[in-house]
Amino acid sequence: MVQTNSSLPSDFIRDIIQDDIETNKYQGRVATRFPPEPNGYPHIGHAKSICLNFGIAAQCRGTCNLRMDDTDPTGESMEYVNAIIRDVKWLGFDWEERLYYASDYYEKLYQYALQLIKMGKAFVCSLSADEIRQYRGTFTEPGKESPYRDRTIEENLDLLERMRAGEFPDGTHVLRAKIDMASPNITMRDPVMYRIKKETHYRTGDSWCIYPMYDFAHCLSDSIEGITHSICTLEFENNRPLYDWFLDELKVEHQPQQIEFARLNLSYTIMSKRKLLELVERKLVSGWDDPRMPTISGMRRRGYTPEAIRSFCERIGVAKNDSIVDMALLEHCVREDLNERAPRVMAILRPLRVVIDNYPEGRVEEFECPYHPKNAAMGSRKVPFSRDLYIDADDFMENPPKKFYRLSPGREVRLRYGYFIKCVRVVKNGRTGEVVELRCTYDPETRSGFAPDGRKVDATIHWVSALDALPAQVRLYDRLFRVADPLTKESDMTLSLDPKSLEILRSCQVEPSMAAAISGSLYQFERVGYFCVDSVDSSDKALVFNRTVTLRDAWARITEKGK
Ligand code: ATP
Ligand code: MG
Repeated sequence: MVQTNSSLPSDFIRDIIQDDIETNKYQGRVATRFPPEPNGYPHIGHAKSICLNFGIAAQCRGTCNLRMDDTDPTGESMEYVNAIIRDVKWLGFDWEERLYYASDYYEKLYQYALQLIKMGKAFVCSLSADEIRQYRGTFTEPGKESPYRDRTIEENLDLLERMRAGEFPDGTHVLRAKIDMASPNITMRDPVMYRIKKETHYRTGDSWCIYPMYDFAHCLSDSIEGITHSICTLEFENNRPLYDWFLDELKVEHQPQQIEFARLNLSYTIMSKRKLLELVERKLVSGWDDPRMPTISGMRRRGYTPEAIRSFCERIGVAKNDSIVDMALLEHCVREDLNERAPRVMAILRPLRVVIDNYPEGRVEEFECPYHPKNAAMGSRKVPFSRDLYIDADDFMENPPKKFYRLSPGREVRLRYGYFIKCVRVVKNGRTGEVVELRCTYDPETRSGFAPDGRKVDATIHWVSALDALPAQVRLYDRLFRVADPLTKESDMTLSLDPKSLEILRSCQVEPSMAAAISGSLYQFERVGYFCVDSVDSSDKALVFNRTVTLRDAWARITEKGK
């Protein structure tokens, strides 16, 4: 369980709850829930809701249930249930034994529906979906009452039972609450409570062919579970009177209160499960856990940690008005966390061979290199150094512009943790002119990283020993979309996908200590970025790394101005 911090910044929801505790509303009890519909993998927006609901419960010594809000057989599945369970757990939250399913309440909900019919508060309506829409009216015009509104209680009971028994095809009848067709709030204009859907449900199979609507099922599920504060997103604000109407009319024992907050919107991505499913189904990504997806599973595979995600959710806070959070903030939280925890290693993404002419052939030295510059407790590893090295092709330019301080003909640089080397000759492919190898000399006096004569170099570059390095594949992930608002920019979001959001480098070389790298573990490749061992495709035989996030410009200082 996550340790909560009682000095967490307060917000309007926590203020409401604090007041309720003080006035002993609900006998001082706090019970929240996270109620996902298992029709997709949880995403970072869900993480906000998870952190909020579980966070408040922990802070107030209350409880938070995990409830599958599975009242629509279309698109729901056990795969999604399992993904939700895994992700909430991974984020660090615990619902103890309180895992619930709205589908377990079907019979209870049905009894509530019968009760409303008997009270003359619900009726079976036989208008078509289109007609219901036409009768509903608009924001400026009141609706029109259904001609079926005055069916007798007996007739309604009979019809609902026959709907349940499967006598009628989909769309022929619905059960509606009898409220007020002239209400200024369209939600209150005799809303639908049940519809016929002859579809197999992933849990209840074919036991039911009528399914409750969200507005009817949700408030009663909350009440059945004794929820005190039903926290949901802003688009349900207009539904709150209906939420209360069902609870009031049915005089249920527990009357939870609904509180709305602004959903998380994040730039450069999308948060609709339907759209995310489209990306998966059209194979525009490798799956729900593609490291570019805004899903929790994608972020986990990408190398984001639960701590980074929780810190992000805490930082964005909870507000009553919609806004768009910059993706850069999430990336900042990831960097901040990885900067603390990721061991530093050396990896060469685009290898360029370097031969140190004056270093004895066959000789190998081992440099003791710390895993973290500021945390000695992380220990160190031995990195072999030899005559044949790889450096990153980006660290060399044959004809450098003025501001390029790294390696070029005649120039001296420092190798990270080691000697100064100087480029003395450039070997090219005779046919293509491509630089294939650099011949260098090293200064044996600079083993400490400094020259006894006090001469300075302007850059420190990373390297690996060619004989000892391990081959690896590195996947450079970037934002999935090119534009900040992919859903509004183009009619088809796929037009905004960034074709450069994944670049695969297949001939990378990493230092030999990485042989022990285990699935999912995180590293900082010095000067390059944060990476993790891919949990799906990496193996002892073929290492695969995912770029989690780039290093801001922090490395530029080391590179351009020496240590
Ligand atoms: P979609 O909008 O894709 O249909 P949803 O939001 O309805 O999905 P649910 O599974 O019903 O998805 O959501 C579960 C809970 O997570 C709900 O309480 C919902 O309010 C909350 N939630 C969903 N998206 C966000 C978001 N972007 N920011 C904050 N909370 C969210
Ligand atoms: Mg929903």
